[in-house]
Amino acid sequence: MILLLDKTAPEGADREILRVAARLGLPGKLLSGSWGRQAVEIDDPVPARAQRMFRAAAYVEEVLDRPSATPLSENDGEEMVTPVRVGDVVIGGDELVLAAGPCAVESEEQVEAAARAAARSGARLLRGGAFKPRTRPGDFQGLGVEALRWLREAADRHGLKVVTEALDPASCDEVAAYADVIQIGARTMQATSLLKAASRAGRPVLLKRGLSATLEEWMGAAEYLLQGGAPGVILCERGSRSFETATRFSLDVGVLAAARLRTHLPILADPSHPAGRRALVRPLARAALAAGADGLLVEAHPDPSCARCDGPQALLLDELPHLAQEMAAIGEAVGRRFAGPRAARAAAGA
Ligand code: PEP
Ligand code: MN
Repeated sequence: MILLLDKTAPEGADREILRVAARLGLPGKLLSGSWGRQAVEIDDPVPARAQRMFRAAAYVEEVLDRPSATPLSENDGEEMVTPVRVGDVVIGGDELVLAAGPCAVESEEQVEAAARAAARSGARLLRGGAFKPRTRPGDFQGLGVEALRWLREAADRHGLKVVTEALDPASCDEVAAYADVIQIGARTMQATSLLKAASRAGRPVLLKRGLSATLEEWMGAAEYLLQGGAPGVILCERGSRSFETATRFSLDVGVLAAARLRTHLPILADPSHPAGRRALVRPLARAALAAGADGLLVEAHPDPSCARCDGPQALLLDELPHLAQEMAAIGEAVGRRFAGPRAARAAAGA
């Protein structure tokens, strides 16, 4: 925001405003004389409370707002979340949400086993890729539409919603015909033609953060979806590329917290891809929830040793109830709830 001071402002009034801003942790700068009076710019985003204070400050005559490039994704400076509703599942509400399932759908039996275990652990969404964005063309690319059908049927049998990736603009409508939530992957987060097509498919979109995307770039991608008409966007942090080789990617708990101050969109965390191996998934999941994630997107497989994609990081199905218990415990610590396995069993009448 730009603050123009009135002409009677004593020398140094502009510096005093910058000092106050600095005490609030807000950087800013003096604007050169082109305004014909003292003027300062405080870097956006300025929290709503601070904005009100500066507007009311002595000698502030006029306030100019730089037009926002991401008006639909930003919050108004307050920590608030606009929940995304997927049927009766609310993402970004009081309850933490778990989405679980295999990296890729490989067979009807595999996805059925994953769906059953996910539902028993209190998951509300079933994940699984039918179109896989693989690094090399010789790698398993997914089973396509048949996999979408198995995913949908397994989810329906267990009362789950479906989240699955659309890789290219042409397949968005087909994915939307089977999925409740369209996933946009890390590799294609900035593919604008895909974002535009996904935004028109009539489903909420789960937007993974690109491997090296800043929060502003991630929100820019969300803005494409929202301006295109997507009925909801859920961000998903999945780790970025760093120097570290002990993990596959670096889960950015900092951006989970920072995003909460900058955007009203719900944010899930995917601890599986940054972990790269099973033993690290639950610790990263716990950290993400403690940092404010609205839930988790987790890979789990009935037999990870035979998985055609991302087996080493897949949780065993037996581990899902433990993850669910940890979600409930951390949820309690951060003022959220996770109904977990017990409630899921009760709902199923077991
Ligand atoms: C996935 O969820 O299996 C996936 C491919 O994720 P990402 O786009 O984050 O790599
Ligand atoms: Mn995967």
